[in-house]
Amino acid sequence: MSIEEALLPDSDEKLSAERAYELYWAELLGEEPRFHCAGTGCQAQLTCACLKKPEQTLLIRPYFRSFRLEDHAPTCEVMHGQGTPKKDKGPDVFEAERPANHFQTQAQAVPVGARLRAKSQQGGDAAAPSRASALLHKPALPKPSHFYRLSSLVQKFLEHRRDKDLAEAPITIGGETTTYEALFRNVFRQKAADHLQTRAVWWGTASLRATKDGGYYLRFTRPFRHGDELLKPTMTLASKDIEAYPVRKLLRARLDKLIAEHDGYCVVFVWAKPWMPKDADKPFVRFYVDNLDHIDVRSPEILEELKSTSRITIAEH
Ligand SMILES: [Zn+2]
Repeated sequence: MSIEEALLPDSDEKLSAERAYELYWAELLGEEPRFHCAGTGCQAQLTCACLKKPEQTLLIRPYFRSFRLEDHAPTCEVMHGQGTPKKDKGPDVFEAERPANHFQTQAQAVPVGARLRAKSQQGGDAAAPSRASALLHKPALPKPSHFYRLSSLVQKFLEHRRDKDLAEAPITIGGETTTYEALFRNVFRQKAADHLQTRAVWWGTASLRATKDGGYYLRFTRPFRHGDELLKPTMTLASKDIEAYPVRKLLRARLDKLIAEHDGYCVVFVWAKPWMPKDADKPFVRFYVDNLDHIDVRSPEILEELKSTSRITIAEH
């Protein structure tokens, strides 16, 4: 049985499996994190499946499960009640920026904060004093349906696509509520000039390679249209931006795995506007991201998975 939320030891902060995954890859939970059931009076130990896998697909995704069903307390509603009570079905919310204290948990506020401060001092980060004062306050807890990394949203997009309800599934992003169908746009044969003001999650198959300076270069394999020309958009992930990114270990592991196992063939998602130079002899299209939370790169297996899966055949792990 898949359990959606858990607690860290000595903490009353409920973590979604997706957030646990992020904190683990930001190297804030240690190598072997322990989780407990969030049920009333329940101390059952939980494990987080797929925690250490850099890749995510429809079937490979983080979720909590118990070691043994009998570990749960008789009062535990997670196991013995109706499962996790259904939340009010508001839209998913994608936050464009993380809160300053996002990479700390209540239980680990001091060590995590200290580590962040140590890191930011190395980097000369001017935000350090406000992070220190944030430690004195209980951090605002992230809500499970609030997402900060595009990858979390892509996971929901894939699930809605599989379930064929993209047009009905609401999502709030950049302060506006729309649907997953309207937000996610494939670049293929769209007119580039019509979309220079369209901030959307643009996606498509792409080829990926590492650059000499420790960054990455992506080129879509399907083009935008521009007059008679077909323009394949490109994107560069600079090494210095990756080094400053808290979840860099996950990003690098994902990208390096795609290069090693798929020769760089991948599916890329980016929340951005397509950019074209105003008057270049040779037109081209690029995507620029200033926040690496706004891109996601997946294995081509997700395309196969979407073709061959349906809601009925998805087994619960
Ligand atoms: Zn329990």
